[in-house]
Amino acid sequence: MITGANPREQYLARKAEIDSAISRVLDAGRYILGYEVKAFEQEFASYLGVLHAIGAGSGTEALHLALAACDIKPGDEVITVSHTAVATVAAIELTGATPVFVDIEPRTYTLDPAKLEAAITSRTRVVIPVHLYGHPADMNAITEVARKRNLRVIEDCAQAHGAIDGRRVGIHGDAGCFSFYPTKNLGAIGDGGMVVTKDGVIASKVRLLREYGWKERYKSEIPGWNSRLDEIQAAILRVKLRYLDADNSARTLIAQEYSRTLADTGLVLPVVREGVTPVWHQYVVRSDHRDALQAYLQENGVATLIHYPFPIHLQPAYQGRLAVSSLPETEQAAREVLSLPVYPELKQAEVQRVINLIRSFASAQAP
Ligand SMILES: *Cc1c(COP(=O)(O)O)cnc(C)c1O
Repeated sequence: MITGANPREQYLARKAEIDSAISRVLDAGRYILGYEVKAFEQEFASYLGVLHAIGAGSGTEALHLALAACDIKPGDEVITVSHTAVATVAAIELTGATPVFVDIEPRTYTLDPAKLEAAITSRTRVVIPVHLYGHPADMNAITEVARKRNLRVIEDCAQAHGAIDGRRVGIHGDAGCFSFYPTKNLGAIGDGGMVVTKDGVIASKVRLLREYGWKERYKSEIPGWNSRLDEIQAAILRVKLRYLDADNSARTLIAQEYSRTLADTGLVLPVVREGVTPVWHQYVVRSDHRDALQAYLQENGVATLIHYPFPIHLQPAYQGRLAVSSLPETEQAAREVLSLPVYPELKQAEVQRVINLIRSFASAQAP
């Protein structure tokens, strides 16, 4: 069985819990940085096994806050990947620092540690590995280089709530940043984000920065701004956090079904690095006939997405403005990747239909 409970029943049971979480906030009458945010911060920290968790307005803001708490400023360089959500790069630029791109490791679509050293200059301060599609970047290799070169590591965990590389992602580096955008593995019904860290100095700085630099009300210790997780989202996320592992397991079963049945179709299937547990935010295949496959699935009522069709360094907002070395793996991935449907509510019959369609597309392509 791919889905456990009847999806409709499961939806109604969760909705009832969410309704009561929302009413609890209305009854308490406190909407900003109250009981629910504090409780969710504690619950999320203990889920990950980390000391501090600080709610933020979004995943982009979580990254911005973590970078600012590490004193990143104009003139600094921050290394990340170009095969990511634009938010990763937008957050770097919000600090005034310069993003520098390293190519990806083509099997896992994450920052290639072998190419990291070459990108480090005297201005480099931080590396941001992105645990893309729910698959952990190679944290041992990346943190080793970072330690040797005295760089901070801030993990972009927006697609990887609960993923494990020895420990859960988010707690390997100096800070981990999460998004609770509705489609993420742990999603709110609006925007939200979180910075987690074992470093007490970073934690207190993020707490100040997210609310005008206030330690006490109306008295700014440092220049900050406003980036807060709100009470309603926090109350909802507390409910959803209890289902996160079950939802990730449901995604894993679907991923295993795809991997079991699509191996002989000529598609390049996702590879799981030994020893890690991904959380399948996306199940991404590669094909030389990607656009035709996507069109064929679309004609047959199966919507798929491409994450991402344009590497950041080739998008109008960035092209020509950032110095970029060659990123062949990134550019090739953008031409070939296709994300198949994978989400906890997906029914077994729907998965089977996707599989059948891909198999028939593949046999039509075969010489
Ligand atoms: C979603 C996402 C973000 C940004 O999160 P928002 O909450 O939308 O600001 C950052 N990085 C990655 C890799 C993401 O997928």
